[in-house]
Amino acid sequence: MKRRYSGRVWEDHFLPRLSSAEIQEMPKKDSLVILPIGAVEQHGPHLPVFTDTLLAETVLEESFKHIPSVTNIWVLPPLPYGKSNEHLGRAGTFSLSSSTLQSVIMDIGRSIKESGFRRLLLFNAHGGNSDLLNLTAREVRLETGLMVFRLNVGGLSVEESLLSETERLLGIHGGDYETSLIMAAYPDWITEGEVLCEYPELLKKSKFLRFQKSNFAWTIDDVSSSGILGNAKTASAGKGREIYELHGKQVAEMLIDMMNFEIDSLIDKASAEIRG
Ligand SMILES: [Zn+2]
Repeated sequence: MKRRYSGRVWEDHFLPRLSSAEIQEMPKKDSLVILPIGAVEQHGPHLPVFTDTLLAETVLEESFKHIPSVTNIWVLPPLPYGKSNEHLGRAGTFSLSSSTLQSVIMDIGRSIKESGFRRLLLFNAHGGNSDLLNLTAREVRLETGLMVFRLNVGGLSVEESLLSETERLLGIHGGDYETSLIMAAYPDWITEGEVLCEYPELLKKSKFLRFQKSNFAWTIDDVSSSGILGNAKTASAGKGREIYELHGKQVAEMLIDMMNFEIDSLIDKASAEIRG
């Protein structure tokens, strides 16, 4: 029987594999706890609605290939649901409200603090979660004193040779990027049939508004009739494997950096005293 949680992340770094006594006794000063967060939402006619949660899990899996197994980094059960109300009304979208998602993360943050950990990473693979996670990260920091980090899979850099300029600007949902990754990791989960390409008229209609920076509030029905934003026609499993490899190395470096980070060391106390 194929087990769901196989591979290095789940075998060596999955926190709930341990007993309460083991978690109690482990050194926590230099540890990092990761909460992967995804979504269950429509991703066009070809991708599974579980795409974002799968991406959170698989990008982490890839990154742990570059992390020594003794490293004190622990992964919590992935939170499969996200805030996907921009896709509500399309079948297969199962969304939490902003307040529910925020409450869940606050509760998990409090529990991590109670268990004696000091660092929490919100490892997010759904763009629609990111604004809320930014805000919630600070709330958790203020309430618990934990060091809280955020990492958005969609914000990781991808070489220009892999994705076209248009795709990098507009291909944010079910396009070349996500389709290539799922083709590489879960090819059996892709629905066969017509592969689509759909971009909104954003570049023609506005000089400044984009999905990345100067943003505007949108629902999927405002910007796409098919449910995708991007070009799935140019996707390939080979490209997906290349992106995984790039992401894996990049994320591994970021995780080690976060694990070694001490927020208390950001102020040079000696020079602060002189100024005071
Ligand atoms: Zn997605």
